[in-house]
Amino acid sequence: MASIKSVCIKGLKIGGGAPVRVESMLKTRLEDTSGCICECESLLKAGCELARVALPDESLASALAELVKNTALPLMADIHFNHKTALAALSAGVPAIRINPGNMSGSAALAEVIAAAKDKGAVIRIGANGGSLNNAQFAAAKGDRGAALAAAVEEQLCVLLENGFEDMIISAKSSSIAETLRADALLSEKYPFPLHIGITEAGCGNPGIVKSAAGIALMLSQGIGDTLRVSLTGSAVEEVETGYNILSALMLRHRGWQLISCPGCGRRRIEVAELVGKLRSIVPADACAGMTIAVMGCEVNGPKEASHADLGFAGSPGGFIFFRKGSFVCRGTMETFEETVRREILNAELQQL
Ligand code: SF4
Repeated sequence: MASIKSVCIKGLKIGGGAPVRVESMLKTRLEDTSGCICECESLLKAGCELARVALPDESLASALAELVKNTALPLMADIHFNHKTALAALSAGVPAIRINPGNMSGSAALAEVIAAAKDKGAVIRIGANGGSLNNAQFAAAKGDRGAALAAAVEEQLCVLLENGFEDMIISAKSSSIAETLRADALLSEKYPFPLHIGITEAGCGNPGIVKSAAGIALMLSQGIGDTLRVSLTGSAVEEVETGYNILSALMLRHRGWQLISCPGCGRRRIEVAELVGKLRSIVPADACAGMTIAVMGCEVNGPKEASHADLGFAGSPGGFIFFRKGSFVCRGTMETFEETVRREILNAELQQL
């Protein structure tokens, strides 16, 4: 079930029917404040809407304050163990913190953090990871690891509710898709709070992207999840691009245009991958929002197979044909490809603005 309640982080609504948000986490250490500012700029350009930043200890609170002042990207400080670090993060001006109430030093300390968050109007994300569960928690759930994960989140959630705090995002993550899905399904059925989803420690490159996409898509297709992070051993920008590609494939949200391209076979009249590369170099990823552009290898099958695309190119003996919704528009050669793209796609979009 999609969440009923929503939170607002620096103007960004999460949950309560808002579009599924795309998050990431800074890879740059806070010690390198200017590097963090640059990374935030790259993330903003890629469409990132919220970024977590690790705050390992209080001594870096001034660097965090500097970062908050110098980026438009909403930030969530990620804190473990020390409640004083959480208080320092809130004083530094972050609009959200991510804590694990279970590993903070006592209920009085936690109450202090919650009171400070209320005072600043900050959001708190709580959550549990499969790797942090202990044997007692697994035993209590009778070996149902997904249920154990959900129960661990519930414990934290109850602490916040006991302190009269509801501006929270909850999350339950594991590197197992089945466990994560089970935990998130249980939580989203029972609680109205926005849910952050993702598959943790998914890996890198193609396997990491596929694992994240499979897990996140399973959850989203069941209406579970309000904000996502693709956790990759790679760049934060790649995480954001993958997040949007998942949302776009599920037709939930589009950022820029969508590519349709054929795999190419012995009938091809053009090198499909080469033309896709050229197209991508001319049409920015965030342009032509919601538009589908096809690149097909031959004119025999291409225009028909891609007739659902808004615009398309198909290889022909002398170069390519350009079509709109499957209907022929004009012919061109590789030399006139860029000119055709600019005239028919980019200028057409400008005229619609
Ligand atoms: S569109 Fe043409 S080149 Fe591409 S896979 Fe189909 S038949 Fe082959």
